[in-house]
Amino acid sequence: MFRALVYILISLLLLTFIRSVIGLIMKAMGELMGTSAPPSSGPQPKAAPQGGELKLDPVCGTYIPEATATTMKVRGETIYFCSAACRDKYKA
Ligand SMILES: [Zn+2]
Repeated sequence: MFRALVYILISLLLLTFIRSVIGLIMKAMGELMGTSAPPSSGPQPKAAPQGGELKLDPVCGTYIPEATATTMKVRGETIYFCSAACRDKYKA
């Protein structure tokens, strides 16, 4: 009787162990397959090579890469400037 209980316990432990191992393997496989859309990662890294999109400075009329531009939000819209001086001129 006791032996049967031990046997059941061991098989149950083995089953849960195998199940967790299979779960881990499936998870790893899923991560390998779906590299384009990982489900539990934070914000996506910006796909902006070479400083990103060029933005027009409305003050002096030059184009600045989005990554290096000085920005200002006006009614929810982001405006890009080549420098803080241009931004201040725009504000005035
Ligand atoms: Zn400017």
